Amino acid sequence: MSTATTNTDPMSKNPSDPKIDPKSYQAPSKLLSGRTILITGAGDGIGRAAAHSFAASGATVILLGRTVAKLEQVYDEIMAKGDTEPLIFPLDLAKANEQDYQTMAEAIEEQFGQLDGLLHNAGILGQRTSIGSYHQAVWGELMQVNVNAAFLLTKSVLSQLKASADASIIFTSSGVGRKGRAFWGAYAVSKFATEGLAQVLSHELEETTNIRVNCINPGATRTNMRAVAYPAENPGTLKTPEQIMPAYLYLMGSDSRGVTGQSFDAQ
Ligand code: NDP
Repeated sequence: MSTATTNTDPMSKNPSDPKIDPKSYQAPSKLLSGRTILITGAGDGIGRAAAHSFAASGATVILLGRTVAKLEQVYDEIMAKGDTEPLIFPLDLAKANEQDYQTMAEAIEEQFGQLDGLLHNAGILGQRTSIGSYHQAVWGELMQVNVNAAFLLTKSVLSQLKASADASIIFTSSGVGRKGRAFWGAYAVSKFATEGLAQVLSHELEETTNIRVNCINPGATRTNMRAVAYPAENPGTLKTPEQIMPAYLYLMGSDSRGVTGQSFDAQ
C-alpha cells in the first residue's frame, strides 16, 4: 500500500485524479445519496463526526458501537437535522464472535440487499509502555478490537459489499502504523496490521469486484483517545474530527472510484 497524500503514484494501476487532494476535497452536495454505510465506533470522536458527515451527504448510516446511549444520541442528532434515519447496531468488538457478525450481515442483507461503504474506525489505545512491561491481556484485547474485529466484520459483509456497484472500505491507520515508535506497543503493531490487512484485501478485490480498499491516517485529532495519549497537550491546537472529514468523504464517495490499495493522510 503506497502512502499518498495526493495520489500521483505513476505505478498505481488505478491512479486517481491528481487534481483532487483528499485533505481539501469539497464534496458535492448529497455525494452519498442512496448509499448505505456502516461505521464502527460511531458514538464518539472521529466515528461520530463521520456518521454526521455521511448522513448529511445523503447516506443511510449504520451506527455500530458498544455504548448504546452514545449511539442513540448520534441517532437523535441526525434525525433532528432531518437527514435519513440511521440504524443502530450495538456491538462490543472486544467480545463479538463470528455469529454476531453474521447476524448483523443478515440484517443488512434483509433491509438493504447491499452495503456501499464500511468505515473501520473503532479502536482502543491500550497501554503507553515498553514491550517489556506490556500486559498480555491488554495486548490481546487491543488486537481483538483493532485488528481481529475488522477482519471478522469485513469477512461477514463481503457479499453485501460485492452487491454494490461502487463500494468503499476504509481502514483507520496511524502514523505509528507506518513507522514504529517506542512505548506505542500493541497500538502501533495493530496499525501496521491494519495497513497489511487493507493491502491484502485490496489486492484480492481489485480485479474482480467494485470494492475499493484504502487506509486513512487521521493525524492528530481532538478526541478522547488523543487526550489520553497526550495528556499535556492543549486540545485547542488540534483539528476537530469535523475538520478532517474531507478525506473521508472523498474515499467514501464516487470521486475515488478506482482508487484502491493506498494509505492517505486526512491532514
Ligand atoms: P475515540 O476514543 O474518541 O473513539 C473510539 C470509538 O471506538 C468510540 O466510539 C468507542 O466506543 C469505539 N470503541 C472502542 N472500543 C470498542 C469496542 N470494544 N466495541 C465497539 N466500539 C468500540 O477515538 P478516536 O475517535 O480518536 O479514534 C478513532 C480512530 O482513529 C481509531 O482507530 C484511532 O486509532 C484512530 N486515530 C486517531 C487519532 C487521533 O488523534 N484522535 C490519530 C490516529 C489514529 P465508546 O465511545 O463506546 O467507548
